[in-house]
Amino acid sequence: MHGTFVAVDWDSCIADGSCLPACPVNVFQWYRTENDVPAAEMSNATSSGTGRSGQNDRSDYTDKSDPVREKACIWCMACVTVCPTTAIKVEQSNMEFHQQAASTSQR
Ligand code: SF4
Repeated sequence: MHGTFVAVDWDSCIADGSCLPACPVNVFQWYRTENDVPAAEMSNATSSGTGRSGQNDRSDYTDKSDPVREKACIWCMACVTVCPTTAIKVEQSNMEFHQQAASTSQR
């Protein structure tokens, strides 16, 4: 899973890309456009959010949708609804874990 309260299951993600334009606040980007490494190497890693976010900007179909700007989420659930493999879970109660991790990484 990538993300805390906006979480994408990369085992289920098929790089359809429909979540990227569906999100009104641009939470998602393709992970390989910024960090062109195997998905396993992005576990517990962060992205700066400078990658591409068009639906068809994937490197190939092994690319994955990365919720790099999840703190901007407004809980509209558009990504959850549009994903063809139900790979995205949005859970507002996980916000505290995101905030704890963010404060830990800034020390
Ligand atoms: S719930 Fe809405 S605002 Fe939040 S990541 Fe999904 S599409 Fe974006």
